[in-house]
Amino acid sequence: MYSVYIAVGSNLKNPLFQVKNAIDVINRTSKIKIDSVSSMFFSSPMGLKDQPDYVNAVIHIITKLSPKILLKTLQSIEIQIGRIRNKIKWSSRIIDLDILFYDKIFIRQSGLIIPHYDVKNRKFFLYPLHEITNNFMFPDGELLKERLDYINNNKICKCKIQKI
Ligand code: AMP
Repeated sequence: MYSVYIAVGSNLKNPLFQVKNAIDVINRTSKIKIDSVSSMFFSSPMGLKDQPDYVNAVIHIITKLSPKILLKTLQSIEIQIGRIRNKIKWSSRIIDLDILFYDKIFIRQSGLIIPHYDVKNRKFFLYPLHEITNNFMFPDGELLKERLDYINNNKICKCKIQKI
């Protein structure tokens, strides 16, 4: 069994509903057991500013699915919920499911990067993660609390984030 953190986000068609619904769908998926769910957070968009605010959360799951199968499973949940992929980076989406960490492993393959390539720079990943963990340490040994201080002191990720 593996310990995995997943980020859930949406900014279309009632994002609060979409995030909660995606978590329900994940909860009903075989071979995945949800251990904890963060609060819901509003965050301002990164990149393209001309789009609605996002709702974000992070969940902790226990699974025996391999990283690749887990990614495929999450992608099919995104499609089931109505995600239509376009090529524009950081554009609006009905649902986005990202694997943040899979135990302490590192994967660098085309189509799968774990830990998520930008996990240390996005407040809307880090604050929900902080809420559901205790003294969380990144696989490279850095403490989450220290990272939060660093990104706040250095104004990294200028997006606004607010607990709902
Ligand atoms: P996005 O537009 O954020 O949903 O990005 C989806 C793309 O990122 C897909 O092509 C995935 O194969 C790829 N990807 C790479 N690493 C990850 C990860 N850790 N979690 C989710 N998607 C990933």
